[in-house]
Amino acid sequence: MSLIKVNELLQHATAHHYGVAAINTVNYETVAYAIEAAELEKVPIIIQFYPGLDKYIPLNHISYMAKDLARKASVPVAVHLDHSASYEIAMSGIRDGFPSVMVDGSAKPFEENVAMTAAVVKAAAVFDVDVEAELGHVGSGANLDDIVNADHYTSVEQAVEFVERTGCGSLAIAVGNAHGDYIQKPNLDYDRIRAIRAAVDVPLVLHGCSGIPDEQMQMAVNLGMSKFNVATEYFAAMYRSFDASIEATGHNGNGLGMLFGAKEGMVNFVRGKIRLLNPNGYTV
Ligand SMILES: [Zn+2]
Repeated sequence: MSLIKVNELLQHATAHHYGVAAINTVNYETVAYAIEAAELEKVPIIIQFYPGLDKYIPLNHISYMAKDLARKASVPVAVHLDHSASYEIAMSGIRDGFPSVMVDGSAKPFEENVAMTAAVVKAAAVFDVDVEAELGHVGSGANLDDIVNADHYTSVEQAVEFVERTGCGSLAIAVGNAHGDYIQKPNLDYDRIRAIRAAVDVPLVLHGCSGIPDEQMQMAVNLGMSKFNVATEYFAAMYRSFDASIEATGHNGNGLGMLFGAKEGMVNFVRGKIRLLNPNGYTV
């Protein structure tokens, strides 16, 4: 099984009608427990890392750790660098061993996004690295305008042109989703997902999955979206799991007990997401 290319995995997921949980990680525990959850569910997973956290843990530490654990896993595991806001950040991910990178030019004007994405795709091809891009802007769940204003959503016509001109391997789209906690319940634009799915042939990515109602997540899977990014909720599950672990040990000061006791809650959180994204019951 083991380490698999992101694009190969997403194409398989699209063909077999399941969504892949793309779990944001920050250390050994968050990586290892997400992979263990995938093994228990017998479903592939993507381990990803946000490059803005490189002051906490260097890119090469997380990429090599994730790839090593992936190679030993009993299910296919892919490793990916999340939101690279510049050409240089994307290149640093390739330099430090990520087999897949996201280049996010969605905050830039269309032509600049095309130019930056195409440049990353060209360089990444030399290293056989997959590239996810973003069109339309997935903003912040704390900003109501980012959720409800369709001006930020991905245009179907532009998506066709963007994929053709950039050669990106997968595409993150804005369809009423946003990052972080939502101040108002999101309502995904199903018609737009349907139209984009029919118009482009690359796998589609949904960012900001923390807080999207379960039925909307499953609908997105059934409409043919393939990669579902989960960060905020996993880090919240980490907090709750450590909190519960400290409580369970009676505040006895046992650091290892606290660490080991947090595992079950974190694994169970990821298992739940994997099951949610697998409404048709695919297994390896
Ligand atoms: Zn994102």
